[in-house]
Amino acid sequence: MKNKIGLLIFVLAALALVAYGATVILSKEEPTVPEAEPDTVISAGTTAYIEPTTENTVTEVVSITEKTVPENESGYKYAYAGFNPSYADTAGTQWNLILVNRDYILPENYKVTLAPAVESIPDGAQLDYRVAPHYNEMYLAALNDGIELEPLSGYRSLDRQTNNFENKIDYYMDEGYDKIEATKLAATHILPPGTSEHNAGLAMDICSLYQNFDETEEFEWLNLHAADYGFILRYPKDKEDKTDIIYEPWHWRYVGVETAKAIKASGLCYEEYLGLA
Ligand SMILES: [Zn+2]
Repeated sequence: MKNKIGLLIFVLAALALVAYGATVILSKEEPTVPEAEPDTVISAGTTAYIEPTTENTVTEVVSITEKTVPENESGYKYAYAGFNPSYADTAGTQWNLILVNRDYILPENYKVTLAPAVESIPDGAQLDYRVAPHYNEMYLAALNDGIELEPLSGYRSLDRQTNNFENKIDYYMDEGYDKIEATKLAATHILPPGTSEHNAGLAMDICSLYQNFDETEEFEWLNLHAADYGFILRYPKDKEDKTDIIYEPWHWRYVGVETAKAIKASGLCYEEYLGLA
């Protein structure tokens, strides 16, 4: 009996070590690691991350390209480190096409109404309630093909993104960097609050946060079928210079079926598709 308990403790300790190790590796390898939901264990030590998006007709694209001047020009909290985003055009752009990235930030009053991404996982990752049904449909279709598109991380609140970002800044300041350098370094791991598609509930990190996810049958399925459900690979390989984000085979953004198919056919990343890169 005693031996069994000892073995159990040993196994649990080993699992904890493995989990910790995975977290550490992630934060080192992935400049913009998306996170699991706030209430999951994984999220504790990892970093957050960002993304933009959009799509639609040319007319709408044009409206997106017109940068709106932030009401508080240069008033972004992290402007001291060179971050001077304009507000994303949330009013003039179709909701599913809103571009969110380092240059276009969500307004602080941007409201997101959430729903579980997968109906059968009510406590799992959430998405904008208008996106969730599409993810659920895609999830079920994949399941029918024997593929599980595990919803790792969907919506992340601005508060959570801010906390993660501030913690990372503190970490680098403790390492001896000044505030500007520390903030810039933090941004290589975590997108500044409001500049992540996860903050808008428009994107899902699926199955894995490792780049070799693109060697799996899950990724192959997504590559073949995600556009049919309105999702695009938001940070493609070889587009890092356009997106400012590393290749993230796990990050899929909802833009709607028509736009997703057009973007996929074009071979462009979202910024290029919008004529912004
Ligand atoms: Zn992501």
